[in-house]
Amino acid sequence: MSNEMKWAKNVRKVTPYVPGEQPKQTNIIKLNTNENPYPPSPKVFDEHGKVNVSGFSLYPDPSASVLVEALAKYHGIGANQVFTGVGSDDVLALAFLTFFNSDTPILFPDITYSFYPVWAEVYRIPYECPPLQEDFTINVNDYKKKNGGVVITNPNAPTSIALGTSQVEEIIAANPEVVVIIDEAYVDFGGESVLPLIDKYDNLLVVRTYSKSRSMAGMRIGYAMGNKRLIQAMTDVKESINSYTMTRESIVLGAASLADEEYFQEKKQMVVATRERTKEELRRRGFEVLDSSANFLFAKPNSVDAGWLFEELKKEKIFVRHFNGERIKDYLRISIGTDQQMDCLLQAIDRIMA
Ligand code: PMP
Repeated sequence: MSNEMKWAKNVRKVTPYVPGEQPKQTNIIKLNTNENPYPPSPKVFDEHGKVNVSGFSLYPDPSASVLVEALAKYHGIGANQVFTGVGSDDVLALAFLTFFNSDTPILFPDITYSFYPVWAEVYRIPYECPPLQEDFTINVNDYKKKNGGVVITNPNAPTSIALGTSQVEEIIAANPEVVVIIDEAYVDFGGESVLPLIDKYDNLLVVRTYSKSRSMAGMRIGYAMGNKRLIQAMTDVKESINSYTMTRESIVLGAASLADEEYFQEKKQMVVATRERTKEELRRRGFEVLDSSANFLFAKPNSVDAGWLFEELKKEKIFVRHFNGERIKDYLRISIGTDQQMDCLLQAIDRIMA
């Protein structure tokens, strides 16, 4: 080891999460990170035009109260039941740090959002991953043993499968001594939310994002809802790290998005309709496609290798996602774009597989 590297032994060893590619080229079809193909609501554009840039010289409101109160009103809960962060990744990471301080392993499925093991490693939280069943569904009984906390993505990613409310409730009810995080990043596209249960269970934290159904991945807004004591605990940890997480822009633009329910519903329906049509088209081409409750499809191209098809699509400037995990390497995760983008995908598949 050279002299300059004497500090290396004290470096925290991490294997970072690998996000989907954000290619620099512009003329591509990007179906690899589950973004929304439609722009944010016109109300967000209007509000953006009114942003007071001179105000950037001052720090934002550390409690982001304009956004927190708008979210509380939108969801019909108290402002003290809402916590906001820089995307749901920030909210989830902080929830791991706040709630998972036990020597007993936390539990999340073997196939789920691949950031969970990364946060567990970086914070040195022990974890176990009960395998999903053969059909990629969750067996709720796997979450009834002693544990240090539970994290469930519902609908799950990358499988797109939703777990029913009664089954999620079974998991929450079986774990009163630990916090159960339900990551509802994709719930607006067809899942059932357990938000109505936050007053019944003081161990339930529901996490949401603006990055998918609200078309605002670039603004980085996520939030959590739960019992006010859970929210206070997260706020205390956040304020021990960084007081000002939400920018002046994210606070006002996040609130503006909530003021346009009609646009939100319309665009969500469009994504769902395109998803169903694409699912049928892929099935007609011999793909095995799981029934999706999210804004993406998990599809197995039976006649060719998924990794090969991923590369061939890339040559056609169509980016989808391929995971190398043992149980899922035969599948592609395809985000739902516009009808036109999905037609391009289907035509490219026909050309490639001809
Ligand atoms: N949870 C799940 C299940 C996701 O797929 C994503 C998106 N990668 C996130 C959370 C994080 O989303 P964001 O930080 O953009 O809110």
